[in-house]
Amino acid sequence: MHELSLVASLFDVIECHVKEQKPKAVTRVRVQLGRMSGVVPELFETAFDTYKKGTLAEDAELEIVVVPVKARCRSCRRIFRPAPDAYSCPHCGSDRWKLLEGTDIVLEKIEIEI
Ligand SMILES: [Zn+2]
Repeated sequence: MHELSLVASLFDVIECHVKEQKPKAVTRVRVQLGRMSGVVPELFETAFDTYKKGTLAEDAELEIVVVPVKARCRSCRRIFRPAPDAYSCPHCGSDRWKLLEGTDIVLEKIEIEI
């Protein structure tokens, strides 16, 4: 499962971030998932719950923020949110546009108990 390996690398990043503070526990983790990141939030959550057992984040709560897709048209330069099955700019009809947001997975916040 794709989500499980993502969660594994997320835990590497979390551990790396908190290790200097030597916390008792990680209590909350907030992650942004782009709507076009290829990650299914429900699967990500399940993978997180499986993976956290026995780690510092054993009782951590996972908060997922789904980031909508944002694109900029290369023809009329306007910014728009492409519909899931639309491949053209809603303003000028051009199919030349670039994704600005909505493709990334970002670890936004970690809360710990010292
Ligand atoms: Zn356009």
